Amino acid sequence: MPAKLIDGKVIAEALREEVKQKVAERIEKGLPAPGLATVLVGENPASQVYVRMKHKACQEADIISIGHTLPADASQEEVEALVKELNADPDIHGILVQLPLPAGLDEERVLNTISLQKDVDGFHPINIGRLAQKGREPLFIPATPAGVMYLLEDSGVELSGANAVVLGRSNIVGMPVSLLLVRANATVTICHSRTKDISALIREADVLVAAVGMPEFVRGDWLKPGAVVIDVGINRIEDTTRKSGYRLVGDVAFDEAVEVAGAITPVPGGVGPMTIAVLLQNTLRAARLADGNKNG
Ligand code: NAP
Repeated sequence: MPAKLIDGKVIAEALREEVKQKVAERIEKGLPAPGLATVLVGENPASQVYVRMKHKACQEADIISIGHTLPADASQEEVEALVKELNADPDIHGILVQLPLPAGLDEERVLNTISLQKDVDGFHPINIGRLAQKGREPLFIPATPAGVMYLLEDSGVELSGANAVVLGRSNIVGMPVSLLLVRANATVTICHSRTKDISALIREADVLVAAVGMPEFVRGDWLKPGAVVIDVGINRIEDTTRKSGYRLVGDVAFDEAVEVAGAITPVPGGVGPMTIAVLLQNTLRAARLADGNKNG
């Protein structure tokens, strides 16, 4: 029987609607609308698209968003000065520095400059450090990993005691997803480019999160029957039947996997929409923290 589809578009839409509703309630109570500032350094076309999408989503949720752009040759000091200015701006509750930064800039130093209470992307070293420690609570969780967990929880997947395999160990997806799965009491195996016999490890997985950035890397016959598959990958492959000349596929061979898995996210329309919805949720949380609400 084909797998149940985990429809990220529908789940993200519901979350966006919930955020919009809560923003409206704030404004009715006389509280300020949440404010997000984005910082885009350079002209990376993919980053420009992502930042535009984030602003559009903010607008739809009645969140104020202000875009700042700096040239690709901006100095470390200039980027940090802008972040500090935004830290001090009471109308800005969340700051998002779009990654990757151009070569030559020290990403860690920039992320470290963001006020902890405004770190809506959750990449501040202290927030990530807390994520890795038992009994500590990060103020914000990075949007894509949080989106993965939201999809799993919304779909009623039992994580406690489950065998989870995470493919990829990047700072933005694989590692934080792995930490979140551990916090949810799953037993986690992290695979990366040096892992031996990945297919054998995946065959043991009740839950697979794929984030390697390689088109259709995971084949259907690698999966344990009934496994839950969350495909984070977004890869362009040539498709001459499309006007654009390409189409998007995930890290999992969907047509094969859908015949074996118990539930699966499509690409596009799976994790992608969740990333933006969680960013809105995090921005609302930042505004609530600024109100003095300790739990956000
Ligand atoms: P990344 O930084 O390039 O990391 C890729 C990871 O995959 C690394 O840990 C790497 O291992 C591992 N890897 C590479 N080749 C491998 C192989 N042959 N076997 C096993 N592991 C291998 O990528 P990322 O930023 O995490 O992104 C991963 C994918 O998610 C991309 O397609 C990206 O577009 C997508 N993405 C989607 C969203 C969304 O909103 N849906 C957000 C972010 C990213 P090493 O560490 O050993 O190099």
